[in-house]
Amino acid sequence: MRIFKRADALNQYLSIRRSAGETIGFAPTMGALHAGHMALIEACRQRSAITVCSIFINPTQFNNPDDFRHYPVTLEKDLEALLKAGCNVLFLPAEAEIYPDGYQKPHYDLGALETLLEGAFRPGHFQGVCQVVDRLLQIVLPNDLHMGQKDFQQCMVVKKMLELTTRTDVNLHITPTLRESDGLAMSSRNLRLNETARQQAPAIHQALQWIQQNLGTQSVESLEQQATDQLASKGFAVDYVTIRSAENLSPVTDDTKPKVALVAASVGGIRLIDNLPLY
Ligand code: AMP
Repeated sequence: MRIFKRADALNQYLSIRRSAGETIGFAPTMGALHAGHMALIEACRQRSAITVCSIFINPTQFNNPDDFRHYPVTLEKDLEALLKAGCNVLFLPAEAEIYPDGYQKPHYDLGALETLLEGAFRPGHFQGVCQVVDRLLQIVLPNDLHMGQKDFQQCMVVKKMLELTTRTDVNLHITPTLRESDGLAMSSRNLRLNETARQQAPAIHQALQWIQQNLGTQSVESLEQQATDQLASKGFAVDYVTIRSAENLSPVTDDTKPKVALVAASVGGIRLIDNLPLY
């Protein structure tokens, strides 16, 4: 595996490979890699000649400075995992490579996606996500971009950013959420859960499954309220439990359209998100 810290060196190397007719698949991450990330690497490997992974903890997408400061870093383990998974290229940039002096970060017109759900609880988060993915795409110029359904709204935001930046040549592929055996969605932030919180955390997936099992038996509002109560009674501080259109995350109006249940809730001071497509 080749490791690049400089954007220009990576860009040059990949342009040589591209000229040789090789396709490039890309999975951006913030490190502290787990099996969910590895599923993206595997999806990349299946499709592309060259698999590129980036590890960059992007400061512009953190609305909470404490969350940024405490974001887990496990670089040695990450390198081992990427080597084992057959990743070809790792991009490990410093902040100045992504946002060089004088670089004007664009503003993206994300419409309603910017301010609903995660956007409401994490102001500026999705602008930061677009800024970093946009820059990484400029450097890597992949054919295929791989992201996880675990971040359902983020996938929609990135799709919108690809449209706004007229990157019709980049294909976005979405990998289903990988879970621990007790149902907890894998996440780098799980490393920050204390023992008690880790035991409580699978309740999020249980609440989502409960919604799935009871869908159609009562109103959407009643399902949302009961699932919220289930989590609150187990010690969660619930930001939202909601059933939305899987097409645009707007409130459900047409019962025949695909839906998704989404949760954001904190346990032991750690904020977790998860979702379950209901289609
Ligand atoms: P992160 O390092 O958290 O920014 O995540 C990098 C990529 O991995 C994003 O596209 C995430 O959606 C994806 N990802 C994170 N957790 C999971 C998971 N449990 N299953 C599948 N993909 C995931």
